[in-house]
Amino acid sequence: MISDTIAAISTAVGEAGIAVIRVSGPDAIKEVGKIVKSKTPLEQAESHTVHYGHIINPQTQEKVEEVLVTVMRAPRSFTTEDVVEISSHGGVISVKRIMDLLLMLDIRVAEPGEFTKRAFLNGRIDLSQAEGVMDLIRSKSDRAFSVALKQVGGSLSAKIRDLRYTLVETMAHIEVNIDYPEHDVESLTSEFIKEKSSHVMNEIDKLLKTAEQGKILREGITTAIVGRPNVGKSSLLNTLAQDNRAIVTDIPGTTRDVIEEFVTINNIPLKLLDTAGIRETMDVVEKIGVERSRTAFTEADLILMVVNAGEPLHEDELELLEQIKGRQAIVILNKMDLPTKIDRDILERYIDPELIVPMSVKAEEGIDLLEEAISKLFFSGQLESADLTYVSNVRHISLLKKAKQSLQDAYDAAEQFIPIDMIQIDVRLAWEQLGEIVGDTAHDALIDQIFSQFCLGK
Ligand code: GDP
Ligand code: ZN
Repeated sequence: MISDTIAAISTAVGEAGIAVIRVSGPDAIKEVGKIVKSKTPLEQAESHTVHYGHIINPQTQEKVEEVLVTVMRAPRSFTTEDVVEISSHGGVISVKRIMDLLLMLDIRVAEPGEFTKRAFLNGRIDLSQAEGVMDLIRSKSDRAFSVALKQVGGSLSAKIRDLRYTLVETMAHIEVNIDYPEHDVESLTSEFIKEKSSHVMNEIDKLLKTAEQGKILREGITTAIVGRPNVGKSSLLNTLAQDNRAIVTDIPGTTRDVIEEFVTINNIPLKLLDTAGIRETMDVVEKIGVERSRTAFTEADLILMVVNAGEPLHEDELELLEQIKGRQAIVILNKMDLPTKIDRDILERYIDPELIVPMSVKAEEGIDLLEEAISKLFFSGQLESADLTYVSNVRHISLLKKAKQSLQDAYDAAEQFIPIDMIQIDVRLAWEQLGEIVGDTAHDALIDQIFSQFCLGK
């Protein structure tokens, strides 16, 4: 049971218009009441009411500050304890004066994250929700913010609880078998374990996949546009970006630099790198571009190879096709508005026909087909809706991977008819690892470490 009362400044200290000091704990209302003079004494205040008054120095009775005080009684507060929030005029001196008075009472300074930690320890939120609070505070983009918000709302927790429930059921089933080890029951149990563990592994995979997709949606797919000079790479970039940052010319090899550009093709964000082409050249300027584009080529998550459909494949292009084997790549057959001379059969030896996209960049045709192909590669053809639960926390990702491995071990053991009570150990481990995500099986050291990453006053 938590018995002490804590206080901290909950707003950023500085030139802000107001500052809020939050006090939480069993004695919050009684103690703060000693330094607040208001029409209704705080101890008689009803829950969720705001009071105008003054902070007074209890020794001198001198008025220190004009304040608004909010009273929230247990359990209807963030920490589930009695909470008092004092809003004062901003400014370091004013806030510090009030804090000093509070600390002369039976109140101590809160550690970083201690309010959220109390909410967790008092069962108000689970660990993944608490981490969501931290992500919310830190999130820099709208997207990251909404992912964190969903996590605070408990969407990940609900999924994890489901999976753990399945594992508990499985363990119960195994338990029964250990007590009554008849032979036919044993083989049935092996089947049962295999079925349940592959089900949970599948669900874990889905969650892990959202981690990749979450990252993609946050940062964009790093994309290299490659191809021989003059096939239409810069034109493609410009069409996608709808401005003229890259130089488009009729002279081969005049794209001088690797230019980064963020674009979205309907819903898919790409971080595009235009390249100087693949041709070896003596031109110094071009050469720098070529070297840079090699780096881009190696680092890219997606390669868009542009070819001119109006010409037969060049030997450089065959070489490039060889290089993109095994990579996430799409071949854009550009200039489809011209008579076609390219040999598709040869192309299809290198790349899945569905990843060959006919386009006319000049006529702005085929962009929807390009989007489809990208979505096929990165989202299995299905762009996830906005209300998907994304796993974004590194700790969660690592625990999901561990739990999946434990279940794989259980599955393999069941397949080899290893004694059931041995398998039980792996299933239990997976259950604990998933439990660590929501904090059910997390130990104190981990909990302390997580909450210590919070800023003061949260
Ligand atoms: P890059 O060297 O690969 O970057 O090629 P550019 O984008 O500079 O384009 C080379 C030339 O091809 C320019 O004259 C473009 O206008 C032209 N071009 C680009 N796309 C198309 C297309 O779809 N159809 C036709 N007919 N010409 C195109
Ligand atoms: Zn170019």
